[in-house]
Amino acid sequence: MKKTFFTILFWFWSCTWGFFATAAGLIYAGLMRARGFRPKVYHGNIYFEGVREAGGFNLGPFFFLGTKHSEYTKMHEAGHGIQNLILGPFYPLVVGIISELWFNKWSVKNAEHLKTDDWTLEERWDSYEKCWVERSASELGKKFYGIRKEE
Ligand SMILES: [Zn+2]
Repeated sequence: MKKTFFTILFWFWSCTWGFFATAAGLIYAGLMRARGFRPKVYHGNIYFEGVREAGGFNLGPFFFLGTKHSEYTKMHEAGHGIQNLILGPFYPLVVGIISELWFNKWSVKNAEHLKTDDWTLEERWDSYEKCWVERSASELGKKFYGIRKEE
């Protein structure tokens, strides 16, 4: 599939079936823009970096990253954007809630690793992707935007 065609279809689909996350993303992007952050583009997705301390979160075709992130993080967040195309109105509910609960549980369980930072990027992701919602985001990201874990 041609890249431009894919991007048009991606946005059309995001604005219709994936409307809720896209609308929230647009509002959040507007707020970040007003605070002086500049939008960047990743394979047709719009993202902002440095808007939080670490990690990232996705709102449909928009995603928001911390200052410290890798190419893999971008691919993963863009993968959540594909989940929004699949789940549509259920995406904020299903992925939002499961992701949030998982992130909290994971942060507490691995507090020691996170504090000492003794994980490689790969170990960190392997652990994080034990949750199917997160694993599926990375798999979709790889499938559509393709990148290997070490990049
Ligand atoms: Zn995720």
